[in-house]
Amino acid sequence: MNEHQRHVKARQDILDGRTPEKRIIVHMEDLEEKKKREDEIKAERKRVNDRMDALKEAKTPWFCPECKKVMKKRLDNKMYRLYRHCFDCQVEFENKLRTEDKYKEWEEKKMLNNQLSYIKEQIESIDDWKEQSSKPFESLDQVGIKDVELQKEKWSQNTEKVEEMSNEALEELNKMKSEVEEKLNSLEV
Ligand SMILES: [Zn+2]
Repeated sequence: MNEHQRHVKARQDILDGRTPEKRIIVHMEDLEEKKKREDEIKAERKRVNDRMDALKEAKTPWFCPECKKVMKKRLDNKMYRLYRHCFDCQVEFENKLRTEDKYKEWEEKKMLNNQLSYIKEQIESIDDWKEQSSKPFESLDQVGIKDVELQKEKWSQNTEKVEEMSNEALEELNKMKSEVEEKLNSLEV
């Protein structure tokens, strides 16, 4: 039996569940050793590949992934590492942010000015109302009411009430007005 035949027999013995010849067992141990080494090599190769992938990730590509321009500026490298796009893309990004900020302020200013003109209108109409109710007799003469004394009494009560209500409303409106004005002054637009 030559070496090859011994191997064939040993393999058959193993497959059939028999114990193979002693010297073949040594050989089987060699095979196990070989497989272990192969696994180690495979594992090492995987480690190397992983490391390569990590390096690839860190390496600045030739083209900016955003604008597709060639990244050739010295600053492109730095910007890519920080923001994953080129220097120009970063400048554009920051400009856009600034523009949006201005736009937001501009919109707020518009809204506050609308509020302010509404509040001013309210204040004006309440002032008118006060003015009207403090001149009852004029109005009474105009509508030609005969029992003037009785009506005068009613009007003065009414005037007091109007005065009270309108002062309350005016106080509130003036507070709102100065709040809105303060906000408007704080805007830089
Ligand atoms: Zn770019």
